[in-house]
Amino acid sequence: MGSLPEPQPFRVLIAGGSYGGLAVAVNLQDLCRGLPARSGPQPEDGEAPPTAAPQIPIDITIVDERDGYYHTIGTPLALASESFADKFWIKYADIPALRAPNLRVLHGSFKSVDPERKVATYVPHGSTDAPLGLLYDYFVAATGLRRAWPVVPQSLRRKQYLFEMGDHTRAMASARHGVLVVGGGAVGIEMAAELKTLQPHLNVTLAHSRDTLLSSEPLPDEFKQRTLDLLRETGVDVLLSHRVERAEEVKDDAGNLCLRVHFTNGRSKLVDHVSMAISRPVPSTTFLPPSVLDEEGYVKIRSDLRFPADAPNSTVHFAVGDLVRWSGIKRCGAAMHMGYYAAHNIHQHMKAVAAAARGIEEDPEDKQLDEILPAMGIALGKKAVGYWKEAGVVSGEKEMKDFFGDDLGFSICWNHLKLGEDGIEQC
Ligand SMILES: Cc1cc2nc3c(=O)[nH]c(=O)nc-3n(C[C@H](O)[C@H](O)[C@H](O)COP(=O)(O)OP(=O)(O)OC[C@H]3O[C@@H](n4cnc5c(N)ncnc54)[C@H](O)[C@@H]3O)c2cc1C
Repeated sequence: MGSLPEPQPFRVLIAGGSYGGLAVAVNLQDLCRGLPARSGPQPEDGEAPPTAAPQIPIDITIVDERDGYYHTIGTPLALASESFADKFWIKYADIPALRAPNLRVLHGSFKSVDPERKVATYVPHGSTDAPLGLLYDYFVAATGLRRAWPVVPQSLRRKQYLFEMGDHTRAMASARHGVLVVGGGAVGIEMAAELKTLQPHLNVTLAHSRDTLLSSEPLPDEFKQRTLDLLRETGVDVLLSHRVERAEEVKDDAGNLCLRVHFTNGRSKLVDHVSMAISRPVPSTTFLPPSVLDEEGYVKIRSDLRFPADAPNSTVHFAVGDLVRWSGIKRCGAAMHMGYYAAHNIHQHMKAVAAAARGIEEDPEDKQLDEILPAMGIALGKKAVGYWKEAGVVSGEKEMKDFFGDDLGFSICWNHLKLGEDGIEQC
C-alpha cells in the first residue's frame, strides 16, 4: 500500500521585517501550528487553554533591506545614546522567535511583484546581478515609509548602523554652542527631549515654523499645549514661528568653526549642529503595481487588509502598516494590529483552501479593520503626554512608564510580538 503524499506547504512571502511584517510572521506561525495567535485574545487565568486546532504546513520568507529588526520608535533615544543604539537593532539571526525550520529571512530589496503570476523579484544586499525571483501563494507588503536621516538611520547592516549612530552621538555631545533640532512634529520633539535629558549639559533648541507644535496633526489644542509645556520643562529652548532660511559656517570668538542659522523672521542663532526632523516620508511601494496604489503611493487596502478587489488574485495579496491608505496617525501599534489581522485572514483562507481540497465548503471568518481614530503618545524626558478619544489628554511619569517603559517602547514591542521566545521549541 502506497503512502499519501505530504501536503505542500503554503508559501508566504512577506516584504519588510519590522513591526507589521514580523507581526504577520509570528502570528501566522502560531495559527498554523494550531495555537491561538499571540496578538489575539489569550485564555484568562484559570481558564482551560483552547484545544489545539489542526496544523497547516507553511513556509515563510521575509525579505528586508536591513539585516535586522530595527526599533524605529526608539530612534530619538538611539541618536542620543550609543548603548540604546546598540540595543535597538537586532540581527534577524539573533531573534529567537524567527528560528524555525520553515522560516527564513533574506537580506535584500524588493524590485517587483506580479500578482497575476504570483512571483516577486528582489536584489540580494550588495549584489549587482539581476534580481532573483520568488514564487509565493500569499504575499504581504509591509515595507513602511521611507524616512530621511536623522529621522531614521539609513544603514542597512547593523555594523554600519552602529558607526552611523555613534558618529552622530559623539558629534552632538561635543557641541559647545548647542544643537538645533528643526521641526516641531512628534519626531523633532522627541529628538530634542531625549537629547536634553540624556546630555543635560547641552544647549538644545527646537525651532518650528508654525505658532503651535504638532501643527499638522489632527489632535486637540490641549494636547499640543501640554506637549509644549512638558518639552520646556525638560530644558529644551522652544522657538515657535521660526522658519529656517539658511545656515552658514562661521568662526566663533575662539576661532572654532560653527554654524550661524538664520530664520526668516530676521533672528539668528549660533549652534554646532543642526538636526532636520522635517522630511516628508513616502511609502516604500515602488515595487508594487501602480494599480494598487493611490496617487501618493499608499496601498489602497480593503478593510480585510487585502489589495483592491480588481487586482489580480487580490484574495491572497495583503498590505499592513504605515504603507496602507487608512485612517489614523501612522503608529507601530496599528502596524502590529494590522499584521495580526492579516495573519488571521491568511489562515482563514488557507483553512478554506485545505477544506475545499477535501470537498468541504468552509466560509472564512475574516477580521475587518475598523476606522482608526487619531491618537498619539510622545516621550518627553521623564514624562510622556498622550491623547486618545476615551482618555482625553493625559501626561506624567506614570504615562511614560505605561507608554514607553524605560527604553522608548523597545521591550513593549519585543514582548508584544514575543520575539524572545524560541521559535523552534514551539514547532
Ligand atoms: C522617530 C520616530 C518615532 C516614532 N515614534 C512612535 C511612537 O512613539 N509610537 C508609535 O506608535 N509610532 C511611532 N512612530 C511610527 C512607527 O515607527 C511606524 O508606525 C512603524 O515603524 C510602522 O511599522 P511598519 O512595519 O509598517 O514599517 P517600518 O517600521 O517602516 O518597517 C518597514 C520595513 O521594510 C523594510 N523595507 C522597506 N523597503 C523595502 C524594500 N523595497 N525591500 C525590502 N525591505 C524593505 C525596511 O527596512 C523596514 O525594516 C515613530 C516613527 C519615527 C520615525
